[in-house]
Amino acid sequence: MSALTDPALVACPHCAAPNRVPVARLGTHPNCGRCKQPLFTGAPLAVDAAGFAAQVGKGSLPVLVDFWAEWCGPCKAMAPAYAAAARELEPRFRLLKVDTEAVPELAQRYQIRSIPTLILFAGGREVARHSGAIPAQDIVRWARANA
Ligand code: ZN
Repeated sequence: MSALTDPALVACPHCAAPNRVPVARLGTHPNCGRCKQPLFTGAPLAVDAAGFAAQVGKGSLPVLVDFWAEWCGPCKAMAPAYAAAARELEPRFRLLKVDTEAVPELAQRYQIRSIPTLILFAGGREVARHSGAIPAQDIVRWARANA
């Protein structure tokens, strides 16, 4: 795993404000300087296009994105595993969920052909992609190996 920029630039999951957080303090439950809410919730963050742009474009943490849809059985089956992976990967990663029905422009931009698809972004760029449901430990291993 590559070293994080220090201080890390963390986009708030609530108000999208960029926060500078020393890497050593990432695990100390830091709050947002603007809205005072926790920068990490231990859960995947559902985003629209603007939220995606803030998290992937403005933050320095690697961002893992689950592209899913309500009608997709395997997506729903993987949801608890993805939530468990978020508890383990935060605060070194940000985990997002993109509903491909609600935000079709993102599904189109990243040419999502099957779901669930996981895409890992680092420095705003796609660095790895995996299609198909996998268990929590495989999500964690895959993310750490590719970040
Ligand atoms: Zn905030």
